[in-house]
Amino acid sequence: MSSVSPVSNYDSAHRRRRAELLPMAYGTPCPRCGLPMLKGQQLDLGHAVDVALNPRAKGERIEHASCNRRAGAATRDALAKYRAAKRW
Ligand SMILES: [Zn+2]
Repeated sequence: MSSVSPVSNYDSAHRRRRAELLPMAYGTPCPRCGLPMLKGQQLDLGHAVDVALNPRAKGERIEHASCNRRAGAATRDALAKYRAAKRW
């Protein structure tokens, strides 16, 4: 089981941006899975560049929370494998 990192490193600007974009995101396709994002679903402010790759990446689009977290975990897993492979 992979752990989901806490969102405590997200600053108030991130939360403000999410609140701004959220109303416009309802009914539009999720950039990761292509399914519509609906009211009542858990939606996150996501990153075109994963935070695992660029910790200073700014949130810039709304996507399903589950899609966002799955993608983040996949990137971290890939990075971990890459780093493990480089170790002698
Ligand atoms: Zn999605």
